[in-house]
Amino acid sequence: MKAKPLIYLDANASEPLRPEARAAMLAALEVTGNPSSIHAAGRAARRLLEEAREQIAARFGAHPARLIFTSGATEADALALLGLGRGRPLLVSAIEHEAVRRNAPDAILLPVDRYGRLELDALAEALARHSGALVALMSANNETGVLQPIAEAAALCRAHGALLHVDAAQSAGRVPLDFSGLGAASLALSSHKLGGPAGAGALLLDEAAFALLQPLWGGGGQERGLRAGTPALPNICGFAAAAAAAAPRPDWPALRARLEAAAKDAGARVIGEEVPRLPNTSALALPGVPAQTQVITLDLAGIAVSAGSACSSGRLQQSHVLTAMGLGRLAEETIRVSLPWSVTPDDITAFIDAYTEMARRLSPAHAPAPCTPGGDGLPPRQHLASIPGG
Ligand code: PLP
Repeated sequence: MKAKPLIYLDANASEPLRPEARAAMLAALEVTGNPSSIHAAGRAARRLLEEAREQIAARFGAHPARLIFTSGATEADALALLGLGRGRPLLVSAIEHEAVRRNAPDAILLPVDRYGRLELDALAEALARHSGALVALMSANNETGVLQPIAEAAALCRAHGALLHVDAAQSAGRVPLDFSGLGAASLALSSHKLGGPAGAGALLLDEAAFALLQPLWGGGGQERGLRAGTPALPNICGFAAAAAAAAPRPDWPALRARLEAAAKDAGARVIGEEVPRLPNTSALALPGVPAQTQVITLDLAGIAVSAGSACSSGRLQQSHVLTAMGLGRLAEETIRVSLPWSVTPDDITAFIDAYTEMARRLSPAHAPAPCTPGGDGLPPRQHLASIPGG
């Protein structure tokens, strides 16, 4: 029997590799030199590295001399928080990714409203109390896709002499992004979130932040002494090719609207739909059905989605994002569906079929009324939720 094709709707975890990125990586794998070597082979590698730097800087409105390659957005966030924020009060929104939270354990947490947007009044108050702060704010949330008020936050930071670091891991390539017009001091990018390989990322800096930045470790002085270690050239070339190719798919909004309308018909609530979101992301809460059960049920139907944030061990944790939005119980009953660059209308149809069937079988809202006062003798429907596929 032919295996069912996997329907991949978990782009915010990792995008499929773009063909342009694969081709650039294969070409870079043929290059032998170390970009730091002065011989011809080294110079050839250096040329590729600098071309990639220029390509990414141009794509996101940064100066190539102030783009530091890292291993991903986690390292770029860490470099900003620890290398730029050291000695400063740190203010971070309550919905930041672990890449920010874990590198700012003593930070002051800024609340979000019920739609998951930073409370600007709280930011203004915190800035007034903590001078010279570094503020970390994601441009789009990874779980809900909700876009954050970056321009307003940047203006407040400027007025209070604070620095703003933007984690753009999820928005790069999915909504317009121009670092030069943002008013931020630094910005983190991730290659695998825009269709490049994992293992590459970048920190973009403005002139003042570049002068302030301290490296996190010593070594061979690469990246102008700010990030030592031989750069992963094939990953970086794949990153650059993916960045050049990445753009919002014009049909994402229509595909997502179809998916969300069907999910709502099946009893779901769409989290954050009242406010601007990334066009590829849907957070769907199905009351009464644990998120993990939903992920497993859809996985059995050949559909990859996620719940909350998957940590490195693959375990699911209660979502701090949905909890900060005050969703209570729904925080444990929400899955994330994120459309990749390669999604097809048939993928959406398959998702709708599987989701509707799942809701019919597992959602308490679809349970038939018991025939006798004592129930029908069968286990309550919610119990089925603990039996994958049951
Ligand atoms: N920041 C955000 C908002 C993310 O969603 C992620 C990954 O999920 C990261 C940072 C970490 O990115 P990377 O995997 O490139 O380290």
